[in-house]
Amino acid sequence: MKVLKFGGTSVGSSKNINRVINILDAYSKDSNVVCVVSAVGGITDKLLLAGQQAQNKDEAFKDTFDIIKNSHFSIIKELNPNGNSSILSFVEERLEALKSLLEGIYLINELSPKTSDKLVSFGELLSSFIIAETMKNRGLSAERKNSQELVVTNSNFTKAEVYFKDTNKNIIDYFKSAAQKITILPGFVANSANGEQTTLGRGGSDFSAAIVAAALHVKQLEIWTDVSGMFTTNPKLVKQAYPIETISYQEAMELSHFGAKVLYPPTVQPVLDLDIPIHIKNTMDPEAVGTIISKDANGSSSPVKGISNISNIALLTLQGTGMVGIPGFSRRLFETLSNEKINVILITQASSEHSICLGIEEKDVEIAKTAIDITFENEIELHKIDPIIVETNLSIIALVGENMKNHQGISGKMFSTLGKNNINIRAIAQGASEKNISAVIDETDVKKALNTLHEAFFETMTKQLNVFITGVGNVGEKLVEQIHQQKKYLKENLKINLRVAGLSNSRTMIFGESGIALKNWKEQLANGEKASLEGFFEKAKALNLRNSIFVDVTANKDIAGLYAKYLRESIAVVACNKIACSSEFNNYKELKRLSLKYNAPYLFETNVGAGLPIIDTLNNLIASGDKVTSIQAVLSGSLNYVFNNFNDTTKFYDVVKQAGAEGYTEPDPRIDLSGVDVARKILILARESGVAMNLEDIENTPFLSPSGLKSDSVDDFYDTLIADEAHYQSLYASAKANNCQLKYVAKFDDGKASVSLQEIPEGHPFSNLEGSDNIVMFYTQRYSQQPMIIKGAGAGADVTASGLFADIIRLGND
Ligand code: ADP
Ligand code: ASP
Ligand code: MG
Repeated sequence: MKVLKFGGTSVGSSKNINRVINILDAYSKDSNVVCVVSAVGGITDKLLLAGQQAQNKDEAFKDTFDIIKNSHFSIIKELNPNGNSSILSFVEERLEALKSLLEGIYLINELSPKTSDKLVSFGELLSSFIIAETMKNRGLSAERKNSQELVVTNSNFTKAEVYFKDTNKNIIDYFKSAAQKITILPGFVANSANGEQTTLGRGGSDFSAAIVAAALHVKQLEIWTDVSGMFTTNPKLVKQAYPIETISYQEAMELSHFGAKVLYPPTVQPVLDLDIPIHIKNTMDPEAVGTIISKDANGSSSPVKGISNISNIALLTLQGTGMVGIPGFSRRLFETLSNEKINVILITQASSEHSICLGIEEKDVEIAKTAIDITFENEIELHKIDPIIVETNLSIIALVGENMKNHQGISGKMFSTLGKNNINIRAIAQGASEKNISAVIDETDVKKALNTLHEAFFETMTKQLNVFITGVGNVGEKLVEQIHQQKKYLKENLKINLRVAGLSNSRTMIFGESGIALKNWKEQLANGEKASLEGFFEKAKALNLRNSIFVDVTANKDIAGLYAKYLRESIAVVACNKIACSSEFNNYKELKRLSLKYNAPYLFETNVGAGLPIIDTLNNLIASGDKVTSIQAVLSGSLNYVFNNFNDTTKFYDVVKQAGAEGYTEPDPRIDLSGVDVARKILILARESGVAMNLEDIENTPFLSPSGLKSDSVDDFYDTLIADEAHYQSLYASAKANNCQLKYVAKFDDGKASVSLQEIPEGHPFSNLEGSDNIVMFYTQRYSQQPMIIKGAGAGADVTASGLFADIIRLGND
């Protein structure tokens, strides 16, 4: 004998019922089969809804009834196109009875638990009948047996308790004489010893199947559902979740108790007592291996087996000095809740006994609060304890695994993983058996928490990064292309799953919770919503994705002003925009502080020398205990370009114009030529070396002509370059006479910094700089004689983009 159970989705459409019939047909070739079925998917909810509506005098119950009726009728017709009158007439008669029941509820304005059970029982009674009759129509040896005649319970309506002795006897007796090969039983429904209709609780068809499997002592119970087994976590919330091949009863019970709804928790008990394994299978993919739940499925497997979550949780906190050392508080508290039939899901008590904290279902909050406040009325009046504190919109997430007790540091890893992603933990509970570590968090953080924990415990090798890029001009565009091109490489070689979750230019912006497809990103962006800086931030925050990174590829002051907001949400910031780092020292310091506090790195390698690893090298020197004594550098690709091309055969004006045209200078060339840009860079290096300094502290000796310095527009400025050609030629002539080249040099020495145009003699490390090359020489305590030198292209879209990319990858390796 084999026992199989098919859930609501599996019998939710004619297409799926056909799959079920095929599976049963194949199974019945080798042995007799018992098949327990749920109601047609969604019908139990609709029956309850109709009942509520009728009770509330809402005529809409009739529409709900029609929906219920029509879904059954269309399934019957689709399954039996060549004749369905006998099935239809029985179902019509049953539906009439249902309608009368609903009208009765409407009339008396009342829906008792007893009537509610009668009402929902229609679901399973109808589905089992339709399936059995369809099978008979197709010539299969099938019968439907009403399990209300087999399963006996007490009268605890909506979640009745089974009387196993009578139930087992009924089941054994029935199957002793059953002649058919396939028996279809409605799950979930039962009768009380007094003959009233009862049910076993929501999701209870699993339980019905387990009861039958245990009574018949079968070798294995099969639960067929719409997923390929019990997953490491809810597959609807975590794409990377995968089926667990084997799991112990205890673990399965914990997982399902904490929300893995694939199995209804009491299911395990009847089969557990008899060591009957449960096999979870997928109706939509019968070949998939599924999950085996059994007694000794554990062995030396990984300590954490799964992660589950329960939503709609409320936290109750009872606290007060009057609780300390006085016995009986907890007993009275639990008795109060038990009297109200309120289920306590989680308990934590501070060791000071000063407070006790309970997790219950949100729907029970009002009743719980009122009852507890009445129980402790006296103590509250005497200020020995405070009125109960209620928090709602919470969820419990739980790590489950029997082997966790043998491994240290699992809760540490759980909480630090959550902390790193800015997920606030409201309460923690760890069962003494250590099969389960639970945390209460905000409902809005659940998806992020499950994903980040899943990554930490089940995908230890891969890390997902979600980048939000603003500014997709020259450099930004290159960055997106580089990410697109390297995505596969990163996944395979660095185990980084890099996704672009947001993109914006000054006009439009787009988002993709599971990553924007980069193939046609430009088109998508062009059709995106209207861009806004705040809107971009709000969306990144609302998506609440783990390891989020905001990438600023602009030179925009307002965007730099938003970094603090991003960091406060634990969103890392990667910027080539120099404004924030070279702004007021206090602002720079504050960003560093926020970055530490919220565990969100702030990286800006491209602020100096584009893609050259200058800041990273400096940080590494300092982190390893070295001390910078002096920095000498050529840090402006633009000025290099200008002075490499300027001589007595060219005009200064033409060279500057050409530099602008080739994208080597800022749109306003004065920012480069006045030395401000270089001053900002040396300021950043000085600060990263540990010196508190502001832009005004940097000595800037200008080389521009006095009128060039005073010009108040870009056009004016260009005019002065023409007028003052002689001034610039004299700079060149002097250098030439001294056998030198002109270089714009930044220095940091003895806590002071300066920028100026210098004559550099032949043979000096700065003398051979080509094109837009940058060079930095670090003199430190360890590199005191020979400096550490970093040299290479210091400007250009490609290298700047790869510098940003390197910062992003750095976060992936964190
Ligand atoms: P059925 O109607 O077959 O009884 P349920 O809807 O009760 O099916 O349970 C299956 C669903 O449980 C899946 O579709 C999935 O969304 C959900 N689920 C939650 N957690 C898990 C988990 N850890 N593994 C598998 N499924 C899970
Ligand atoms: N139909 C019931 C429910 O939806 C029982 C079940 O499907 O397991 O809860
Ligand atoms: Mg179920």
